[in-house]
Amino acid sequence: MCIFCKIINKEIPSYCIYEDETVMAFLDISQVTKGHTLVIPKKHYKNFLECDKDTLTHLIEVAQSLAVSLTEKLHAEGMNVLSNINEVAGQTVPHFHIHLIPRYSENDACVIKFNESEEQDLETLAKVLKD
Ligand code: 5GP
Ligand code: ZN
Repeated sequence: MCIFCKIINKEIPSYCIYEDETVMAFLDISQVTKGHTLVIPKKHYKNFLECDKDTLTHLIEVAQSLAVSLTEKLHAEGMNVLSNINEVAGQTVPHFHIHLIPRYSENDACVIKFNESEEQDLETLAKVLKD
């Protein structure tokens, strides 16, 4: 059983801030910024790509209302909402989760950087992706 399934089953403690039949949200142990929260489905899906649509729809609604509430209660200036898919993208726990990372300053501990890389032929790329 994965570590987040154990958290859902209360075999591992967590600071839960929201729970219903299908979704749970709890404070990330690493707290990249104050209030860093993970929103997860109670059913085990490996990642965003594998989550069923009904669960995903509900989860994203919960994530949005928690993001609003975190912003208001913690006086955040912004938020990063993200989900890592597979190790190559930084996923370390193979149970789908959305990170809510409140942002207080551009110089806080959360660094998300889009480096420059090779140029792409956008016309060809768009054609491939649209078909
Ligand atoms: P990922 O790297 O998979 O996108 O994110 C996994 C997150 O889970 C990390 O930010 C990490 O701090 C958090 N995490 C890992 N184990 C635990 C745990 O036992 N409890 C809590 N609350 N968070 C955890
Ligand atoms: Zn799991």
